[in-house]
Amino acid sequence: MKIRAAVLRKRGGPLKIEPLEMEGPQEAEVLVRITASGICHTDIGFVDYRDEADDPLILGHEGAGVVEQAGKKVKSLKRGDHVVLSYQSCGSCRYCRKGRPFDCSRFFEANFGMERLDGSSAYSPSEVKGHFFGQSSFATHALATERNAVKVPKGLPLEMLAPLGCGMQTGAGTVMNSLDVSEGKSIAVFGTGAVGLASIMASRIVGAGPVIGVDIRRSRIDLARELGATHAIDARRGRIASRISSITGSGIDFFVDTTGDPEIQGIAVQCLNPNGTGALLAGESGTDDLPEGRRTIGIIQGDAVPQVFIPYLIRLYKSGIFPYDRLIKFYELKGINRAMADSRRGAAIKPVLVM
Ligand SMILES: [Zn+2]
Ligand SMILES: [Zn+2]
Repeated sequence: MKIRAAVLRKRGGPLKIEPLEMEGPQEAEVLVRITASGICHTDIGFVDYRDEADDPLILGHEGAGVVEQAGKKVKSLKRGDHVVLSYQSCGSCRYCRKGRPFDCSRFFEANFGMERLDGSSAYSPSEVKGHFFGQSSFATHALATERNAVKVPKGLPLEMLAPLGCGMQTGAGTVMNSLDVSEGKSIAVFGTGAVGLASIMASRIVGAGPVIGVDIRRSRIDLARELGATHAIDARRGRIASRISSITGSGIDFFVDTTGDPEIQGIAVQCLNPNGTGALLAGESGTDDLPEGRRTIGIIQGDAVPQVFIPYLIRLYKSGIFPYDRLIKFYELKGINRAMADSRRGAAIKPVLVM
C-alpha cells in the first residue's frame, strides 16, 4: 500500500514527507491508520545525532490511530478499534513472560532495531528503515502488534491520547511504579519538560509532598506549579541544594532526573535523604560519588505495562487529576520540522502531529 512518511536522511534534518510503499500486516500485526503522533526527545535525539552512515529512517513512537486491518493471529484487536501505540517487546523472553515487558531481553532490537524482530522490513524502497519502537508513527500508516497497540475507549479524541504511549507513561510510571512514591514523601523533579511534568502530576496524585520542580525556563517552572509542584526552583539562580533543604528541612526522599546533565545529577544525589532513591531517565553520569545508603536507578518506560497503565492514565485524565492536555501543542505532519524546532527551544512542551 502507499503511505506518506516523514523520512530522516540527514543529521539535523529537515525531515521530508515522502511517498513510500508499505507491506500489509503479517499474521500477528495490525495495520493502523495513524491519526496523530507525539514527538518525544528520543525522536529529536535521533535527528540531532544521526550517524551519516545510517539508512534513511522513519521515526515516531507515540502514535495513535484506528485499526484498519488485523492479521489472522491477532485476537484482541479488530478493524475500527482505536489504539494508542507504545514501546515494543518480544513477548517470549523470561521477562515478557513474567509480565515485565519493559525489561524485555530484546528491548533494544524491538525498539531500535529498525526492522521487525524476524529481521524483515515492510518498507520500500528498501533503504528506508522503520519499525521504530515497533511503529514508526511519523507516517499516515504504521504496523504494530497486540503487544504495543493498546485498545482505548472511542469517546476521546485520538490526537489527545497519542503522548500517553511514551512520555506520559514514562513520567507518571516512574513515580507510581518504579519509585512507588507514597503519601507525604518528598520528591524533586529536575527538568520540567513533558516527562518531568508527568512525574509532577503523578506525585501530586499519590499525595507526595513537598513536590519540587526544578528547571531553567520560567514558563515551565510556572506550569510545574500549576500542575502540582508545591515548590519550584529556578536553576539559573544556583544554590539548588540549599534551597531544597530549606524547603524540606532536610533532603528529599526521591528525585526524578530528566535532564541527563551530570552537574544536575551530582546535585540531586547530594540532596537525597538516607535510604533515598533517584530515578535517572535521560542516562546516567556524574553519580559515582553516591552518599552511602542512597541509590539511583535507570528506568525504562516507567516500568509500565502499556495495556494496564495507558487505560489507567486515561481514567486519571478523565477524572481531571492528570491534565496533561495542558502540555500539548498541535502541528500538521508537514510542520514536523517546526514542531521539533519549537520543542528544542522550549516553545512547545509536547508537540503532537495530526496526520
Ligand atoms: Zn519517547
Ligand atoms: Zn521479551
